[in-house]
Amino acid sequence: MNEGSKVVKVRRQMTSYLIASYPLDSIRRPHWSDVSGGVYARAPQPLLHAYVMCDEMLEGEIDHSGEHGPCPHEIKVCIVKKDNDPEIYDEVKSAAEPRPERRLSCREDALRIVGERQPILGPVLRWELELRGHGQRNMSQVLPRMVRKHELSTTRSGHSLQYSLPSEKANNTKSDE
Ligand SMILES: [Zn+2]
Repeated sequence: MNEGSKVVKVRRQMTSYLIASYPLDSIRRPHWSDVSGGVYARAPQPLLHAYVMCDEMLEGEIDHSGEHGPCPHEIKVCIVKKDNDPEIYDEVKSAAEPRPERRLSCREDALRIVGERQPILGPVLRWELELRGHGQRNMSQVLPRMVRKHELSTTRSGHSLQYSLPSEKANNTKSDE
């Protein structure tokens, strides 16, 4: 397959019915994004997007109003895996920065950290959460709420609280008493 015959299929949004074919070398700035072109619909996870000129398609159609200015101009399009030859899809993907991982919530990170390192001192847990980008204000609401919901249990260690996952054994012992 020579460079000129490589074709990428694109849609305006992942849910668009219209699909257009573009030469691979006309696909500009591929990147992962959870915001689609046109209507700025938000996807639940990042999808592969790129920019194309609105009039450079080889065939097919694309949802495109021209309301962003006079044609021709660049539009943001979605490159859907199932529309494309796997080799071509990988070629576009490899030109983009690596796909970002979904960031975990403060609660999810806390469960994971405590699960790995219990019992963990409060200040150490807060430090670990801060390293993952969670703010002090947020964690000072999230951690007590998790304790109230029995997702975390605490014991006192000197001046600090120590966090653990509530153990089944401890709960059983308590109900036996
Ligand atoms: Zn246009």
